[in-house]
Amino acid sequence: MQSRHIPFNQPSLVGNEMRYISEAIANGHISGDGTFTKKCERFLEEELRVSRALLTTSCTHSLEMAALLLDTKLGDEIIVPSFTFVSTVNPFVLRGARPIFVDIRQNTLNLDETKLEQAITPRTKAILPVHYAGVGCEMNAILEIAQRYGVAVVEDNAHGLFGKYRDKFLGTFGCLAAQSFHETKNFTCGEGGALLINDPQYVERAEVIREKGTNRSLFFRGQVDRYTWVDLGSSYVLSDMLAAFLYAQFEAKQQIQARRMRIWKYYFDHLRGWADKHDVKLPFVPGHCDQSYHMFYLLLPSLQQRQALIKHLKSRGIDSVFHYLPLHLSNMGQRFGGKAGDCPVTEYVSDRLLRLPFHNELSEEGQTHVVTTINEFDGK
Ligand SMILES: *Cc1c(COP(=O)(O)O)cnc(C)c1O
Repeated sequence: MQSRHIPFNQPSLVGNEMRYISEAIANGHISGDGTFTKKCERFLEEELRVSRALLTTSCTHSLEMAALLLDTKLGDEIIVPSFTFVSTVNPFVLRGARPIFVDIRQNTLNLDETKLEQAITPRTKAILPVHYAGVGCEMNAILEIAQRYGVAVVEDNAHGLFGKYRDKFLGTFGCLAAQSFHETKNFTCGEGGALLINDPQYVERAEVIREKGTNRSLFFRGQVDRYTWVDLGSSYVLSDMLAAFLYAQFEAKQQIQARRMRIWKYYFDHLRGWADKHDVKLPFVPGHCDQSYHMFYLLLPSLQQRQALIKHLKSRGIDSVFHYLPLHLSNMGQRFGGKAGDCPVTEYVSDRLLRLPFHNELSEEGQTHVVTTINEFDGK
């Protein structure tokens, strides 16, 4: 067992993936908007109860669509947590917007809603909450501020599919929300995403933007007799072969989520005692949030200890990884004026957070090895 390798992430088949890909090919339709794309979109619409879900090539591209739908332009500002992936920000920066980085809460590592209002200016176009680890941001407070200032809310829900905040699904709060089906997410087709449209006024234009700026969707529905260039747009449609893979994963929703819940709880229950003794923090999930079981992390007391634990785990064949580097301190972030001390919680957490192996194929035996190895760690 000592020599066994436990990868951080490992994609796997859960059921009908290969069969559905063959079906997509047999259907003679492997470009976008085929049978499986429609099945996936209906599934998301029904499960989450959103007006419209559009499959896209990635979460990044879904956010590019959101930036276009909101008519983001030079001089606009967007408010984002500094503790996130570049894809929350880049789509808006591409349209000329300036990111305003806000710090995160110490307990959930989500956008600190108490720091939000002071970041709003007349140029603010949108607020982008990221539901870190699939635990909901404080959406009531965020929506209240957004409404008061007439600012759009776009959720980066890459981690949070099927998580809930006060009994409402994550991804259904903002006028728009973005999902990811990248290999590292709970449900995957390798690379892929979805744009969730909660405000129906965006549906028609979203279809145009996704189809290279043409009204091709109307043409396919027989609502116009030819299609043409009507707006800005790009190529954001997912191949039906990938949608076929994704649909098989959606069908196994119960199984996947039950598995991930078991993995998360095993880590939590078996690491609690050790964490208390060593001043290590485990994830915090507020009582009014149902998490999506996307990941499991530890917050070590220092950078040195985090690096030492990564090394210790590696020596026993276990891959663990750190997560986001503060965006305000990145090369790009500094060009927008970011400097050390701007977001102290983000800076603290970024140095100390470690993510443990977490994927649908992780066995209890594998987790036991991870927990035992952590228990052997002397903290140096
Ligand atoms: C994975 C991820 C993305 C990007 O997803 P893609 O589908 O790879 O574009 C964006 N935001 C967050 C928070 C993510 O974790």
